[in-house]
Amino acid sequence: MAPRNLTRSQPTGMTGHCARWTGPREEIFTVLMQTQQHLTAKDVFALLRPTCPELGLTTVYRTLDLLNQAGLARKVMTGDGQVRFEYRRADQSDHHHHLICTACGMILNYSNFEQDELDLVRRTEAALSKAHGFLIRDHNIEFHGLCPACRPGGERSVIALGGDAPPPVAAARRRRPSRKASS
Ligand SMILES: [Zn+2]
Ligand SMILES: [Zn+2]
Ligand SMILES: [Zn+2]
Repeated sequence: MAPRNLTRSQPTGMTGHCARWTGPREEIFTVLMQTQQHLTAKDVFALLRPTCPELGLTTVYRTLDLLNQAGLARKVMTGDGQVRFEYRRADQSDHHHHLICTACGMILNYSNFEQDELDLVRRTEAALSKAHGFLIRDHNIEFHGLCPACRPGGERSVIALGGDAPPPVAAARRRRPSRKASS
């Protein structure tokens, strides 16, 4: 189901050039592919804007959704209500789970899974597959909470308690209090 023009081999070193022979879709895909980060549509838009002035934010939103549907991107929801995207390899060799900080928005990828975690996922998938006749191909696992800096006693914990002005990064990401989102 992947749109054909999204799956063909990508030109290398093309980021930053909105080349006529590639389309905006390829440009957006390349941006995702070349970063380990989890980007919002606005992040992608801002990264491409200097060299792709004709690109619209709507196109970025639509393309990211398309990539997600095609299995080439993964959607990550953060506690602050932001929808982020990351590149997803077809062979899933980059499969990882997430630890998401609901205070500063930090997302940690990890793939050094706990053995209990692997066993649980395997057993759960087998049981669900049997119970619902469902062929499971993928899963998203994310844990929400507080990162070392934001947890009580951490270097940013004073902010979580409504203290002094937060550092720039935390300020930019904390559009609204998201403490209710933690569990
Ligand atoms: Zn997994
Ligand atoms: Zn944090
Ligand atoms: Zn990730």
